[in-house]
Amino acid sequence: MAATPIFADRRKRFLDRMRDGVAVFRSAPVTLRNGDVDNPYRQDTDFHFLTGFEEPEAYAVFEKTGKVRKYTLFVRASDPEQEVWVGRRAGVDGATRDHGADEAFPQTEFFDRLPGLLRNRPRLYLEFGRDAAFEGRVTAAIEGLKAEARKGTSGPWEVIDPRTVLWEMRLVKSGADVAAIEAACRVTCDSFLAAMRAVRPGMNERELAAVLEFEFRRRGGDRVGFETIAAAGRSATTLHYIRNDQPIGDRDLVLMDAGAEVSYVTADVTRTFPASGRFAEPGLSVYRWVLQAQKAAIAAIRPGATYREVHEAGLKVLCRGLVALGVLKGTVKTIIASGSYRPYFMHRIGHWLGSDVHDVGPYFVDGQPITLRPGMVITVEPGLYFGDAAPKSVRGIGVRIEDDVLVTKDGHRVLTDVPKEPDQIEALMSPLGSWWGRVEPVTIGGTEEVRTRTSPASRRPRRSARA
Ligand code: MG
Ligand code: MG
Repeated sequence: MAATPIFADRRKRFLDRMRDGVAVFRSAPVTLRNGDVDNPYRQDTDFHFLTGFEEPEAYAVFEKTGKVRKYTLFVRASDPEQEVWVGRRAGVDGATRDHGADEAFPQTEFFDRLPGLLRNRPRLYLEFGRDAAFEGRVTAAIEGLKAEARKGTSGPWEVIDPRTVLWEMRLVKSGADVAAIEAACRVTCDSFLAAMRAVRPGMNERELAAVLEFEFRRRGGDRVGFETIAAAGRSATTLHYIRNDQPIGDRDLVLMDAGAEVSYVTADVTRTFPASGRFAEPGLSVYRWVLQAQKAAIAAIRPGATYREVHEAGLKVLCRGLVALGVLKGTVKTIIASGSYRPYFMHRIGHWLGSDVHDVGPYFVDGQPITLRPGMVITVEPGLYFGDAAPKSVRGIGVRIEDDVLVTKDGHRVLTDVPKEPDQIEALMSPLGSWWGRVEPVTIGGTEEVRTRTSPASRRPRRSARA
């Protein structure tokens, strides 16, 4: 239920930081997929962060005057006929009873009531630049109030983007936020173990992605936090490869980058593993360099360290690796200065993680790299990608290893736990394809609920696609 303490606590902290005025938020729009089919609905992250309310066509309003505070929701009214087709709505009563609003109205009344909410307020908090039509109606209401100056009323003269407050709250996680990320990490990691036990040469990338997402769902994942990457062999040299439609060859390294979203928080994990269950050269050497780089970057994470320091700790090892692998010549210093590593490592070491996979928050402030603070969660994901222009000896190999790391008071804590040492991965994958036929019921959240029973024991390996 949405009226859990986590949302009430966030609203209190938001209102604590807000100056006197009114803040208005709008839910995410429903978008058309094709024909008369909508895309799956997911609430706007900022809207959900404060309200926990998952329905479309809703507005949230926060009013603050000194110590007086008020939280109002405008929601879809109950409609028994509609609810037969698309499910129950909270309705106006549910908005106050179950979702913590002090007052609620049908969403159809929002624009009629808006001038009253804005009248004589010193300032408005509004996320601007996101929905021109909505912003236009809000500013029209403000202009209407200004035209009533002779009656002694006025609209707010100052507009502030509430993301200046919200995104700081989202960047530095509370204890409850961290617990939510840990839940998403647990679902994701357990699903990775299953998928790595399912891979076999001859299966298609999409089949592997389906196994992973099947495991996400039955372990409590609401949806994926982003499109799953299941990339075999050369596919893995494309950073955001999501076609997932190629057969997995028996000599391929498979790169899987995915995250389950649980209660509007996502994990983000990458593992690279051999389709055959046994690492072989030259992939193994590439893998070891990426792993070493990842460990060096994680080791650099502590309060007071900068994002750039974490990046450079990993980058230096990758550059040493590129020399050792015979891809580049020079010293670490000259390679970094010239940028000659960039064709093989073209992204940053990681990103903030939370309700969005590339979560909000700055990486630089006033031109300086941001300093890590306890409560921040960052991914650490070095990689080496040898595409068509790479030397023949390593061409077609793509390796990335990614974990999610919490900055703690004393240093850091890695929140994700999937084997990444080569011998651990080989042990996990042995015997190859053991997942098939051994899909056990899952107990979620300590209850006796069993989500699914499957016994795909009849599945047999298909012929190797690249035999
Ligand atoms: Mg990532
Ligand atoms: Mg990732």
